[in-house]
Amino acid sequence: MPDPPSGKNRKRYRDFKSYLREKFGCSVYKLQIDAGFTCPNRDGTLATGGCIYCDGRGSALRQRGPLPAVAAQLAKSKELYRKLRGAKKYIAYFQTFTNTYGPFEKLKALYEEALAQKDVIGLAVGTRPDCISDEVITLLDGYGRDSHVWVEYGLQSAHDKTLHYINRGHDYRAFTEAVERTAGKNILICTHIIAGLPGETRDDILETARRLAALPIQGIKIHLALALEGTVMGRLFREGNISLMTKEEYVNTVCDILEVLPPDMVIQRLTADGYRDIYLAPDWGRNKMQVLNAIECELERRDTFQGAKFRP
Ligand code: SF4
Repeated sequence: MPDPPSGKNRKRYRDFKSYLREKFGCSVYKLQIDAGFTCPNRDGTLATGGCIYCDGRGSALRQRGPLPAVAAQLAKSKELYRKLRGAKKYIAYFQTFTNTYGPFEKLKALYEEALAQKDVIGLAVGTRPDCISDEVITLLDGYGRDSHVWVEYGLQSAHDKTLHYINRGHDYRAFTEAVERTAGKNILICTHIIAGLPGETRDDILETARRLAALPIQGIKIHLALALEGTVMGRLFREGNISLMTKEEYVNTVCDILEVLPPDMVIQRLTADGYRDIYLAPDWGRNKMQVLNAIECELERRDTFQGAKFRP
């Protein structure tokens, strides 16, 4: 059995905040950027409806009008974090929609604008696994020689039947191919999964976690399946055609997932966050801190930790 997470980390899993603090010697904050990208699963290239849980609004910034430049977005967030938390270092997080979906020169200019800002020590680029060229991987690899670089691949499930149902527009193979092309470079790979998608059993979700545990992936974000206003999931929930997880089911499933993941995989997220204005259900999911505390309590009750059931 592997050892529990050690060092200054008092949690029973390797959380992102502690990981960054240990690596850089201070707290590092991830600053969200909306660089104006769209998504091939929304603009008609692959589909128009998008994934069934995607609200398609983009960031709050985009909803208010013309987007400020990347440098201006970062300057504003940096100022805020500096005042509130005394922050000194930042990761520029290209978050909204598909952040590798555009001409190479445009991507390069945006990423380099972010990296040129004072105290920005790295990049995180959120994208789809079927939407990243080798040229862009090489670009990110180059940045990764001097900076801290993550690429975040949305996957959600390793099961093609689920990917088809949620209208992802790609299969599991597309994801493993993207991971193969990205691995072994100066790029850290984070994968997003969702627990509680309609039609998936707890065994299905655990199978996804086991498959990810066997891949060269350094980070994971675990989301709770939500019904949001303006999404297909929201409509299905209102019509009574899908049910969502109870808090107990979610907490137990997340603990099961953590047990099978490698002990050194960085846990960037353990539940959903935000969406207050369009949040429908599950009601208990609104309180992120309560969910995180319940996960910690369950790990403690089981006397278990991340990696306890990991089989290399
Ligand atoms: S890939 Fe992302 S941005 Fe595109 S439709 Fe799905 S959730 Fe929305």
